[in-house]
Amino acid sequence: MRVIIVGGVAGGASCAARLRRLDERAEILMVERGPYVSYANCGLPYHVGDVIERETSLLVANETVFREHFAVDCRTRCEAIGISPKDKTVELRDLTTAEVTTEPYDKLVLSPGATSVRPPLPGIDLPGIFQVRTVPDARAIREWIERGTSFLAGMERYSGFQTVRPPMHAVVVGGGFIGLEMAENLVRRGFEVTVVEMLDQVLAPLDQEYGRIVKDFLEHHGVHVALGDGVDRFESSEDGSLEVWTRSGASYPADLVILALGVRPDTTLAEMAGLEIGERGGIRVDEHMRTSDPDIFAVGDVVEVKDFVTGQWSLIALAGPANRQARIAADVIAGCDSTFRGTQGTSIVELFGAAVAWTGASEKTLEALGDTDVEKIYIYPNSHAGYYPGARPIAMKVIFRRSDGRLLGAQAVGEDGVDKRIDQIALAIQLGATVYELEQVELCYSPPFGSAKDPINFAGMVASGVLRGDMPLRHWDAIEDGFLLDVREKAELAVEHVPGAVNIPLGELRSRLDELPRDREILVICRSGQRAYTATRCLLQNGFDAKVVSGGMLSHAILSGT
Ligand SMILES: Cc1cc2nc3c(=O)[nH]c(=O)nc-3n(C[C@H](O)[C@H](O)[C@H](O)COP(=O)(O)OP(=O)(O)OC[C@H]3O[C@@H](n4cnc5c(N)ncnc54)[C@H](O)[C@@H]3O)c2cc1C
Repeated sequence: MRVIIVGGVAGGASCAARLRRLDERAEILMVERGPYVSYANCGLPYHVGDVIERETSLLVANETVFREHFAVDCRTRCEAIGISPKDKTVELRDLTTAEVTTEPYDKLVLSPGATSVRPPLPGIDLPGIFQVRTVPDARAIREWIERGTSFLAGMERYSGFQTVRPPMHAVVVGGGFIGLEMAENLVRRGFEVTVVEMLDQVLAPLDQEYGRIVKDFLEHHGVHVALGDGVDRFESSEDGSLEVWTRSGASYPADLVILALGVRPDTTLAEMAGLEIGERGGIRVDEHMRTSDPDIFAVGDVVEVKDFVTGQWSLIALAGPANRQARIAADVIAGCDSTFRGTQGTSIVELFGAAVAWTGASEKTLEALGDTDVEKIYIYPNSHAGYYPGARPIAMKVIFRRSDGRLLGAQAVGEDGVDKRIDQIALAIQLGATVYELEQVELCYSPPFGSAKDPINFAGMVASGVLRGDMPLRHWDAIEDGFLLDVREKAELAVEHVPGAVNIPLGELRSRLDELPRDREILVICRSGQRAYTATRCLLQNGFDAKVVSGGMLSHAILSGT
């Protein structure tokens, strides 16, 4: 069997290695148009930021490894330029010699990835404007930082004692995860960074209030974030620096511009071959990663996948799904009956020592789909036992089915322990678990790592309490008609309070019940919801109609942006 694989990075390289492990006799040809195979594009922003100092650290495996360890005919600078499904051939162009050859296949795997969105804006091709997709892209940015603008070039040549260095400015266009990773790494390199984002939030998969936390955090670390504004044009100044003009008429000086406007599936070859393209613009594949042609498979950023939670077709450009899909395609080619279960977009971004992570569906996605069988909780548990040094709060939102408690999604931000909590919920979602199961799950614990009641258990307990009716809940957007009772201590009110709320600290509540109305719904507020829960339980058992205001003042701050 002769298998040709187009694309030699995440999906292509994984597919080649897996196929060889399953089939010692298959003849495997992997072609990659770039100079490297199997490199870590996820590490590129950190190479620009000098966290990963050496470029070679990004090169996970090379052509020799593929040839010697996997007996794969691995060709770099070799581009697939056409496919004939009828003849089962691929046309290849050697980019060094320009020679074109035709290679036959029994099975073909397409893993060409995605192309960066690059709108035809005036000035977009000016020197100093870069995208970040490949090792040469990162190298070019590093070289530009070191000697790109005339000012920086002057610095390079200058041999005297320099004490004053004017700030360097960078504009990152796009507030997705690659844009924000680049922003952080350019701050590391000494730039004053502006992120320009057309949407009204950064990190579009997050719900708005979580996007707001991230924006505030970026601004706290000196990154200027301009939301709801698209780039109109780029202009160059006489000194070689750039000016980025937005549609609102704002302009930002820039020694460097990074384009991170998102990606589109690279379906050029697939379209030429007449393969079915789906509604989101990716190659349509079945659960075996087979395209509309039974002998052609496609994996990675180029395909549309079923969202595991919503069942909708979606485009998820992430390395994990690309690797798993590649393995499945190899399995199926080798005769195993593997299937891809869909993806839920589990992601994480590191920003200035904090982590932002999410999995599954967001509330806004479910809302847009008209799904009303949805409940959510906001909690702020410590990353590990509060009495052990270094505990940091985690802001967590967990979304679940109101009817049966099935987990649908989660988002979290914090400086410690975010990754493992979102990973645990991701796994729970994959296993079809409910919030009742989170309540019961047994997790490892000692004070430096967690709590006897881990944030995951805590999320399960709160959400289950809501569904069982033990903890009736009101969200901040639905408090108008209630009697607001704030059970925090007086000193806490000085920091922030809700106008019109009556304050009875939790410790005084039982002796002051006669001050509360019996004919109105009492909505109980505290800092995070914990004391409000205790107060609500007390009130309910004393015959009051009481509810916890979800997430207390911490959620109020996030939701109102104060
Ligand atoms: C800067 C950056 C940071 C990222 N960080 C993360 C992260 O932290 N976590 C995460 O999950 N994902 C991350 N990703 C996304 C992740 O890298 C991709 O989802 C993944 O690489 C997709 O794998 P793929 O095989 O589909 O495409 P790619 O890995 O992009 O490989 C496609 C390859 O195909 C080659 N090719 C295309 N057309 C042809 C042709 N006609 N002939 C020959 N070769 C061709 C291309 O040159 C390319 O090298 C990041 C991506 C970038 C760019």
